[in-house]
Amino acid sequence: MHYSISFSEIPEDGIHLKPRDLSWFPDDIVKRDGPVSAKLFFAKKGESKIEVQGQLHGKLLLECDRCLTEYPYPVDVSFQLILEVNDPARHWRVHDLVGSSTDLDTVLLDEPAIDFGDLLRQQILLALPEKKLCGDFCLGLCTTCGASLNSESCTCELEKKDSPFAVLAKLKKK
Ligand SMILES: [Zn+2]
Ligand SMILES: [Zn+2]
Repeated sequence: MHYSISFSEIPEDGIHLKPRDLSWFPDDIVKRDGPVSAKLFFAKKGESKIEVQGQLHGKLLLECDRCLTEYPYPVDVSFQLILEVNDPARHWRVHDLVGSSTDLDTVLLDEPAIDFGDLLRQQILLALPEKKLCGDFCLGLCTTCGASLNSESCTCELEKKDSPFAVLAKLKKK
């Protein structure tokens, strides 16, 4: 399914869209836990300007950077953007680009059509945390034996300190 709407299809009083299937979702990049619902509202702000309000709601499955296990990550995103056709004939002046009167992020489009599948994908990717952690106190994996220290304990640390082999290994390195 192609998720696209052209500016001319948007009525004066705006249009609500609720994509029913999920083929817009970037399943190749992010795992999800069940459906992620999307709601969009497009409102005309001029001949070549559309305001978008959107909401995303669902649950993702992320892999913890430390212990590599999957954990659920709820997504509850609201966004608001201005979409504007980038008219090459128009001469952009600095004050057009810096601080628009609405203070909303403006996305410039090459043509008066919105690929809102793309828009939703971007918002999902923006919703991802920079550092993925299953919990603030995740202990991660033992760098020696790979045991997940959240659920099991290993004796690597002890062995490292006490065993004669560890002492030898240290001497060899010097
Ligand atoms: Zn973890
Ligand atoms: Zn270990």
